[in-house]
Amino acid sequence: MGKTYKIAVITGDGIGPEITEATMLALDSVGLDFEFVKVAAGLNAWEKLGNQLPQETVDTIKASDACLKGPTQTPPGPGSFKSATVTLRQILDLYANVRPFKNHPGVPSVHRGVDMIIVRENTEGLYKGIEYTVGDSALGIRVITRRGSERIAKFAFELARREKRKKVTVVHKANVLKETCGLFRNVVAEVAKGYPDILFDEMHVDAAAMRIAMKPQDIDVIVTTNLFGDVLSDETAGIVGGLGIAPSANVGDSFAFFEAIHGSAPKHAGKWDANPVAIMLSASMMLKYLGEVNAGSRFESAIDTVLAEGITVTRDLGGNAGTMDFAKAVAEKLGPR
Ligand code: NAD
Repeated sequence: MGKTYKIAVITGDGIGPEITEATMLALDSVGLDFEFVKVAAGLNAWEKLGNQLPQETVDTIKASDACLKGPTQTPPGPGSFKSATVTLRQILDLYANVRPFKNHPGVPSVHRGVDMIIVRENTEGLYKGIEYTVGDSALGIRVITRRGSERIAKFAFELARREKRKKVTVVHKANVLKETCGLFRNVVAEVAKGYPDILFDEMHVDAAAMRIAMKPQDIDVIVTTNLFGDVLSDETAGIVGGLGIAPSANVGDSFAFFEAIHGSAPKHAGKWDANPVAIMLSASMMLKYLGEVNAGSRFESAIDTVLAEGITVTRDLGGNAGTMDFAKAVAEKLGPR
């Protein structure tokens, strides 16, 4: 008998419980043994337990092999609680947010031939959340450190080498944000010297946004700061078929969680019609992180096969299947255990 992987599952808010349920169902057909432990975080947890990220949730994640995370909701504006996702990244020191983007069969997209990865620094920048209101002004502090920049740069180059990528592009705005972006840019350029086998170049964030819209095939691996990475990744999701198909991994040296890049889509909650592809592709990244590379590839192929057939797909992809229909179709492709 093989290992049983203990997976903490943050079911989350909105469509979260539905897409995590779908993913657990499909994962059960991949030929591995899992113990799924559901844990609370986000608005639901806040309303029920008075805490958007209960200690028990953090402890369970730390005691698990990995965490699958449904989207969590954070009310906007002053006086509201801090995002459970951002807090979790900081507590677990998950400094690398890896967001791969490529075309999937059967999914209509603005561009073909896209195959890029955004590596987003995940613990610093403006998302550090250091903000003040002084009189009629609101101020935010952008934190960029040498240590933070160095470790994300190394992570990006190591990933590029491992995945046989050709080029890493640092995206910044150092012509205006001279201290913060200047430090980030310079540290990444220093790290690049240790990777002569990989091409290195740089782009201002505004130019990068346009290049992604016009000619994303030029881009291989991007490494960038927290807020820029967040914005550019929704844009990139948009050109390969939308938020419903864009996965991510949040990785540190000891822990990791895997989530769709989209949010809780409250309008879809309770309808069981949301697209589970993004979180299922995140689960495929989770399998590879666990060392189950073949199972991860088989899981992704089964998802792609159902997408290519185009029969059992959700409304955002032009079909009328429900969330669980898609998951069952993927499970069927994986075959009986
Ligand atoms: P969103 O990603 O939830 O929704 C944006 C649009 O995409 C909506 O039209 C939505 O219906 C659609 N959409 C998203 N995922 C979909 C799916 N799987 N299938 C079909 N359609 C889908 O973004 P938002 O509306 O800006 O945010 C809603 C909430 O989500 C906010 O409270 C925000 O804080 C939270 N959020 C959480 C995370 C996270 O947990 N990592 C990330 C982003 C936003």
